[in-house]
Amino acid sequence: MKEKVMLTGVRPSGNLTLGNYLGAIKNFVDKQGTYDSYIFIADLHAITSPKNPQKLKAAIYDCVAMYLACGVDPKKTIIFKQSDVLEHGTLGFIMTFQTKMGELNRMTQFKSKSQAQHKEGVDTGLFIYPTLMVADILLYNTSIVPVGKDQQQHVELTRDLAERFNKRYGETFFMPDVYITPIGNKILNLQNPLEKMNKSDNGNNKGTIFLMDDIEVAKRKIMCAKTDSLGKVHFDEENQLGISNLMSILSKITGEDFESIEKRFDGKGYGEFKKEVAEVVANLLTEIQTKFNRYRDINLLDEILLNGAKQAQPTASETLKRAKKALGL
Ligand code: ATP
Ligand code: MG
Repeated sequence: MKEKVMLTGVRPSGNLTLGNYLGAIKNFVDKQGTYDSYIFIADLHAITSPKNPQKLKAAIYDCVAMYLACGVDPKKTIIFKQSDVLEHGTLGFIMTFQTKMGELNRMTQFKSKSQAQHKEGVDTGLFIYPTLMVADILLYNTSIVPVGKDQQQHVELTRDLAERFNKRYGETFFMPDVYITPIGNKILNLQNPLEKMNKSDNGNNKGTIFLMDDIEVAKRKIMCAKTDSLGKVHFDEENQLGISNLMSILSKITGEDFESIEKRFDGKGYGEFKKEVAEVVANLLTEIQTKFNRYRDINLLDEILLNGAKQAQPTASETLKRAKKALGL
């Protein structure tokens, strides 16, 4: 057993995007093997956006196959489905009771996602899901959580609640840290760079690169990305959000730093720059899609999930036992 634990998850709420890959999955893959690594399919979280059951089931398999296609290695990482490990629900329930309404009200994800639901009333699930995320993280004694910037606040909530619980009931939970890399932590919508790229709640798919996008379609999305009239390939998140976003995508995929990109494109037009970004993204997607098609085999995926749940459950169970004992349950 390695000393430290890394854990992350994605909601099977739609097709995975370049944002999910660059903001969370890539960072996880780069570090798997140096930590005790867990990656899960956050299927309980997916029911905060109601879906047809067949579609949800397919999205869950797609998500596992996509993890594998992105480089998650079942020999180095425990891959499991959240709803297979019942401890998530119980500890989530317990952690909800450690949380103030005001704390959940302050969550920016709740604020932005609840706006879209206002007409029919806001679901309780959307309000309390961060406390389930708290449980997801605490159950495995996690030390680092690779996520995008949008989830940082939820990891901070996890720390607050773990600390509160430990103070009230005695040392029970391990304190996790968020793991966010400076580049690619918030990939923006290509058509509206004021918003992040999302896999769901996206009426207009032109601004989102899905990992399963047709390669030509994906290239066109990059070529049509909103930029500015300054005509200089320069990293400036104040005045050149669109260009800066494309630079982040390029840099995160190839490892080239901003200075070097700026130098290479000095005096050249946006067309040439976008063409290179489009090529790099196209190559990445081609590689991922080839692997995805190989791994999208239900028997193989069921076996991985079954094994993963078996391996994950004992640790989750121990933590839950500790929490119940601390509470006097
Ligand atoms: P949804 O609309 O369903 O919330 P999402 O794209 O936000 O879709 P999540 O399942 O909520 O996906 O998040 C999975 C992981 O991907 C999280 O770690 C999240 O921080 C990260 N992530 C999501 N979108 C981006 C983005 N645009 N840039 C960087 N990271 C992202
Ligand atoms: Mg999200």
